Amino acid sequence: SVRVRFAPSPTGQLHFGGLRTALYNYLYTKSFNGKFLLRIEDTDRERTVPGAIEQIQSILKWTRLKPDEPPVIQSERVDIYRKYLNKLFGKLNHQNQPHVYRCFCTTDRLMLLRHDCKRRSQPYRYDGRCKQLTEKQQNEYLQQGLPHVIRFSLPTDKSGTQSYDDLVYGHHEHNPYATEGDFILLKSDGYPTYHLANVIDDHLMDITHVLRGHEWQTSTSKHLLLYKAFDWQSPIYGHLPLLERERGRKLSKRDKENAINPIEIDYYRQKGYYPNAILNFITLCGGGGFTDNDKIIGTDLDEMISLFNIKLFSRHAAIVDFKKLSLCQRAHFKREYDKSVESRQQIIEELRQKVLHYYPEKNSSTSIQLQNDYLEKCLNMLDIRINLLDELFTNNLYEYLWKEPEIKKDFIDNTEHFKFVIKQTLLKLNEIHFTHDDVKKFVEEYRPNKITNKQIFRIWRLVLCGCLQGPPVHEIVTFFGSNIVQKRFENALR
Ligand code: GLU
Repeated sequence: SVRVRFAPSPTGQLHFGGLRTALYNYLYTKSFNGKFLLRIEDTDRERTVPGAIEQIQSILKWTRLKPDEPPVIQSERVDIYRKYLNKLFGKLNHQNQPHVYRCFCTTDRLMLLRHDCKRRSQPYRYDGRCKQLTEKQQNEYLQQGLPHVIRFSLPTDKSGTQSYDDLVYGHHEHNPYATEGDFILLKSDGYPTYHLANVIDDHLMDITHVLRGHEWQTSTSKHLLLYKAFDWQSPIYGHLPLLERERGRKLSKRDKENAINPIEIDYYRQKGYYPNAILNFITLCGGGGFTDNDKIIGTDLDEMISLFNIKLFSRHAAIVDFKKLSLCQRAHFKREYDKSVESRQQIIEELRQKVLHYYPEKNSSTSIQLQNDYLEKCLNMLDIRINLLDELFTNNLYEYLWKEPEIKKDFIDNTEHFKFVIKQTLLKLNEIHFTHDDVKKFVEEYRPNKITNKQIFRIWRLVLCGCLQGPPVHEIVTFFGSNIVQKRFENALR
């Protein structure tokens, strides 16, 4: 049966790229009724950030991408990696060379090597010097307690070329010998590198399929060589196209410049986004994997699983379009609101808490703005115009719902007209029955002093809302009803 894993390194906050890898692993395995596992790759001790593991787990829980087994934490398994690495010391490759060797090269020497490669415009590649060390030399160095790493000895002939069928990119081949040289398996601090721990764990965890970011594709040939050295069967690999902020610019967690649209998931969770909206959005950021990608908007996780097909996955790097996040959020807001009496009640309760938070003076339950039907009416009137409840408070477009509007002088084109319309309206107000049609008729038939409909609506809107944008005026009038309308018109004269 299918077993996949999400293997993040806890080096910072989980962002769209990371959650995307988790989501696609989840969709893939669950579409075969398989298992989804979590592995924390924290062997790079310097880059590991405290609290990051807990954060990853809590976001997986929030999005319901639930691992089927307890997490595997690599930093707790160092002995296991060393044990398996020792097995490679005794084995020879087909060129009759040991698979691994100790490297005592100092950081200074490696730096010079790096500079040298750079000078010749070549990628950095270890020159393999320590491979020539005799048994005797090695023992001497070990006795002197010299720090060292353990490297994998790559085949120097064609057999180093590894080819495989990528689930997303199709046939792929690569030989790490020419470009990278013998790579490190165990670091001088005794911790394994990503390559060693990754391969051993995928094997021990019985992982059948590895779906990971495209940036790992160059590592795959090394991993395949390691599987061969161990005599293990490798999993099937699929690499996911990169997410980009702009054409050619990777969406990376180290990208700190963009403050407008953060990429950390926690930011959106705290803002009140629905987890399914985030998941939908992620699938719209390139890749896809569904017959009709736009149909995903508003679906829940189970629906996404049933619509997913890796064969439809696209290879193009995709540009993240944050506008689509609003579409997804709005669809889920509507879905929740319409789902059941209980879920509607919950949204109304959240809204009440927000009113109290933003307007702490409204702490009496007799306040109109705190009553259930008022809150429900607000939501019904605004319907899908908002994405988040917070927008009703942070955006001054909606201030009129919670307090008497202040009419800015700049908005009044003609003070005389303004006052005249208000006075005339007040005289006629008792004739309006505050149904939708009545209000429309009233304004259309009744035009004091040949003032145009447009002008009347503008003045009414100003009086009722204090601003010039929002739902149609007749909706606002019927929304408030006679008492509040009367009060606002009277206030406007003062
Ligand atoms: N730890 C790697 C990461 O942070 C995992 C790569 C893989 O899935 O093999 O993305």
